[in-house]
Amino acid sequence: MIRRSFLNNLILSSMGFLGLSKVKASQINPTSLPPIKLTGIPFSICTWNCPEAIITSGDLMMSGTNSLDAVIKGVAVEEANVNNTTVGIGATPDREGHVTLDACVMNSEGNCGAVMAVENIVHVADLARKVMLETPHVILNGIGAEQFAYEKGFLKTNLLTKEVEAKWKEWLKTSNYQPKINIENHDTIGMLCVDKNGDLSGACTTSGLGYKMRGRVGDSPIIGSGLFVDNEVGAATATGMGEEVIKTVGSFLIVELMRYGMSPQAACEEAIQRVVAKYKGKPSFQVGFIAVNTAGAIGSYSIHSGFSYTYYENGKAINKPSKSIYSTI
Ligand code: ASP
Repeated sequence: MIRRSFLNNLILSSMGFLGLSKVKASQINPTSLPPIKLTGIPFSICTWNCPEAIITSGDLMMSGTNSLDAVIKGVAVEEANVNNTTVGIGATPDREGHVTLDACVMNSEGNCGAVMAVENIVHVADLARKVMLETPHVILNGIGAEQFAYEKGFLKTNLLTKEVEAKWKEWLKTSNYQPKINIENHDTIGMLCVDKNGDLSGACTTSGLGYKMRGRVGDSPIIGSGLFVDNEVGAATATGMGEEVIKTVGSFLIVELMRYGMSPQAACEEAIQRVVAKYKGKPSFQVGFIAVNTAGAIGSYSIHSGFSYTYYENGKAINKPSKSIYSTI
């Protein structure tokens, strides 16, 4: 009892020190502090409805694969899915017709790698892992990242499918440049995995905004914004309007809030509130977060309804709608 109230006071004073005074005391859940590592129960969760990707990562971890390999193989399913127009092959190009991909990865040791604005390579999350493991750097971009991919044996692939090219040509007729993310149905994939050892890894992979300006990079490859993993606390990943996630360093914020005792759900809600606090009224863009802590609790929250997440349970993928601030756009 004494220890618990001491911990509560410590948390609340630390939060004040960190400028987290807006966080309500009721949002602090002392029972989730300090997180106890669950071992032996692999778990994976991802943004949107990507059942095959989740089953791939979950099954792999059930058979002993570590979370880093599982998360890369999981997101690779969507990167190879030509029908997913926001990731990998078949993704929507920038306004000049180039498909450019962003991805990052972070492992249980706190190491990370990222690639930005990469062309002609399908499996950019795997490329980000290679940056993490096989270079002294964290980020490679553009031509340099592509060149590195070929050095590592990745194949040059045309990412622009005929169907997507036709849609882009249709868009060119008006060329109405409106950075907009589909609010209710999008497949940029951020995935968080916990393996049998209780070790966490995460990956995030996307083509970003459809018809974006050439060279535009969103939150997805930016560690702390699109993804953050801390093996002692938990992990979070983002989807939606990357510019807004970057401004609030959303994924890092969620993990830090969890570190100071918030549940993943309360932390996701606080991060979304930070995004919308800058705007008067209902924002027209979408942002969504998912999070998991090392005690196995999950959270998810978005600005608008329509965002969903998928997690692995007993060999199945369960898709659930996320809670949100607004139920309609
Ligand atoms: N966050 C990504 C970006 O802004 C896109 C998305 O998640 O839908 O690039």
